[in-house]
Amino acid sequence: MRITFLGTGTSHGIPVLGCSCSVCSSPDPRDTRWRSSALVEGDQGEVLLLDAGPEFRLQALRACITRLDAVFITHAHADHVHGLDDIRPLSRKSALPVHAGRADCEELRARFSYAFGGGQEGGGKPRIGLSELGTLPVRVGGLRVQPVPLLHGERPVLGYRIGGLAYLTDCSAVPPASMELLAGLDLLVVDALRERPHPTHLSVGQALELAARLSPGRLLLTHLCHDLSHAGLELRCASAGLPFPAGPAHDGLRVELPGRPAA
Ligand SMILES: [Zn+2]
Ligand SMILES: [Zn+2]
Ligand SMILES: [Zn+2]
Repeated sequence: MRITFLGTGTSHGIPVLGCSCSVCSSPDPRDTRWRSSALVEGDQGEVLLLDAGPEFRLQALRACITRLDAVFITHAHADHVHGLDDIRPLSRKSALPVHAGRADCEELRARFSYAFGGGQEGGGKPRIGLSELGTLPVRVGGLRVQPVPLLHGERPVLGYRIGGLAYLTDCSAVPPASMELLAGLDLLVVDALRERPHPTHLSVGQALELAARLSPGRLLLTHLCHDLSHAGLELRCASAGLPFPAGPAHDGLRVELPGRPAA
């Protein structure tokens, strides 16, 4: 199994429009961050997309995505779903399964009402096979995708655990029952917006604390804002003294994970 980071930026994307700070004008390509999204590929050829933000089409071209088996949405904020129309060429033969929590499904039906209603086809509509997630895992081929309930401020959102991978973007708290779903990880990917506290996102310090409690094989931080340079965050993570490798993810980063039998 492998994960490819399609985007690792906060909702603005980096550079932020109109900003000339040192990160937004950085020559380090790892400081350019598209909106957060990831691709997970299984050992049997399964291809899963985690969120479809505004740059989805560009991200898919860059990652050479030619097909998808399913999309898993963490929540219906604009930076995570507004690229969903661009699944059109990938949903021609049949509707693409798109999984999300119940409230997020309702938001998606409203936001993409043209795709669910009747009316003229014109240039085509995305065929969104919307499916409401509860607490049970969903199987896609040999992969078992376990929804992990999280809080993003007061809003319930989902993270996902797939084998030894957990992808927890956009969260400010992990409820105790969800901590139990996150034991024994090979790779923890978690929100770390910035150093200063934020009402709906984990700070870098909070993300490192969470990781210390979960003790994964490796930690990668995502959904990063322009307060954080890649190089600076690498040093910050190294100085945290965690007993496992830890650092920021960056767009295009690909990580191979050990295969595990789906339970
Ligand atoms: Zn976000
Ligand atoms: Zn900036
Ligand atoms: Zn959000």
